[in-house]
Amino acid sequence: MEPGETDAPGLFIYGDPMTAQQITDKIQKLRDKLRKIQKECKHPNAVNYDTRCDHGNYDPSQDCCFLYWKCPDCLDLWTEETR
Ligand SMILES: [Zn+2]
Repeated sequence: MEPGETDAPGLFIYGDPMTAQQITDKIQKLRDKLRKIQKECKHPNAVNYDTRCDHGNYDPSQDCCFLYWKCPDCLDLWTEETR
């Protein structure tokens, strides 16, 4: 094993040429890329992994449920309100 090398292949703790600013820029670019994928994804395999209902309102018309969805393809998470 070379000096500065870790057990994880390709991950260097020492001698990493990237500055914190460069890493931040890269994260931002990757986030944008992920958003684009999530925007274009039609979520064909979306899973309703949780449902939370609020039935405790004084005004029953305010009662609602939130469906929690996740997409295994693009890893997007969102909620949907139902009455
Ligand atoms: Zn998706």
